Amino acid sequence: MQQDPRTRTGVADGSGAVSRRSRQIQATVPFRLLVGFLRRRAAEEAGRRDQGVLDFTFGDPHELQMPAYVDALREAAVPEDESWFAYKQSEPAAQAAAAASLERVVPLGWRADHLRMTTGGFGALTVAMKAVADPGDEVVYSLPPWFLYEVLAVEAGLVPVKVQALQPGFDLDLDAIAAAITPRTRIVVVNTPNNPSGRIYPPAQLTALARILEDASARHGRRIWIVSDEPYNRIVFDGATFHSPSQFYRHTLLCYSYGKTLLAPGQRIGYLAVPSGLPEFVELMDAVDSLQVAGGWLFPNAVMQYAVPDLERLSIDVGVLQAKRDRLIGALREMGYDVASPEGTFYLWPRSPVADDEAFVASLERRGVLVMPGALFETPGWFRICLTATAESVEAAIPHFRAAIEEATRQPQPSR
Ligand code: PLP
Repeated sequence: MQQDPRTRTGVADGSGAVSRRSRQIQATVPFRLLVGFLRRRAAEEAGRRDQGVLDFTFGDPHELQMPAYVDALREAAVPEDESWFAYKQSEPAAQAAAAASLERVVPLGWRADHLRMTTGGFGALTVAMKAVADPGDEVVYSLPPWFLYEVLAVEAGLVPVKVQALQPGFDLDLDAIAAAITPRTRIVVVNTPNNPSGRIYPPAQLTALARILEDASARHGRRIWIVSDEPYNRIVFDGATFHSPSQFYRHTLLCYSYGKTLLAPGQRIGYLAVPSGLPEFVELMDAVDSLQVAGGWLFPNAVMQYAVPDLERLSIDVGVLQAKRDRLIGALREMGYDVASPEGTFYLWPRSPVADDEAFVASLERRGVLVMPGALFETPGWFRICLTATAESVEAAIPHFRAAIEEATRQPQPSR
């Protein structure tokens, strides 16, 4: 056999060194945009660190973590018995504390055994998708989405089916979702409060969605599941009430992350919760357990799990977040930006003053203000501002937002 010039192993596989799966992930538009964006941001930050770049991109902390959080982890790291750092699946104390806390937000009678602890919301989403869907099955979600749904779906061999949310307001387009359903549809992902729009879907929409999914499941003789991505379900403003899709549709897999409420996304922990009373409950939990092992031991580390009962008592200050929201929204509107007030999450989602959101984001970048273009969310013409930056950064950025819109509106515009 001739040597393959790429591998020099004598094995000509015709496809290079890496798997088709990894190439498919890298080929998705959101992944390519995200990687390009991260590289540019890193270069920008390195070049401007001394000049105080103002970073409003990711939901990362910009201040030292609250001491009670650090204390909880420190305490959890002290072994109490010889199996403290043994292989762990879901720790019963973590499950119990998380279930009790979830019950206060989504009162459905949660118990410890309804939950499996995961490596953040990411881990919960990937396990949820693989537990109910097989390669080739379709996953429906609304645009603008959190930018990694497509990547998770493709990694699982699933087919993403995208539906535009309604404008203005970014509500679910129920007719479009109904029209997108085929016999291969297995999952509809619902993200509320929504990243990036900040919308909390009201009960009437979730009731109507449930009816659509019950009908379609019966029509096709195959259950359609909701994967409810709700890491922001405690970050709501103005006393708004959050409603989980699981309160309206029994066949819902609820995914939660502690990365938002505690603003510590690097400490990976979250959970997948499955409502009781489902005929498929035992089978489904067995599927989740097996996928967490087979996926590469997808459990949060022991220390994070021991800390959960303490962490459940903590939260970032949503009032401070709301004050930053109000300050920036007020200033942006006064400058002429079209921006709705988010009901939850920690993002603003303004319309770009020029149709080319990437060009507008670049103009802010030149001024040292980093935000995310709508293109990353497959919704050109908008951009996202993350409010986890400090109040001082918000103040410092306001003149730059003003200069950018003044410059943009001086230039002749192509029609939208
Ligand atoms: N879902 C949404 C809507 C998100 O915004 C994020 C993080 O930004 C995640 C899931 C994943 O959360 P985590 O990184 O904490 O697992």
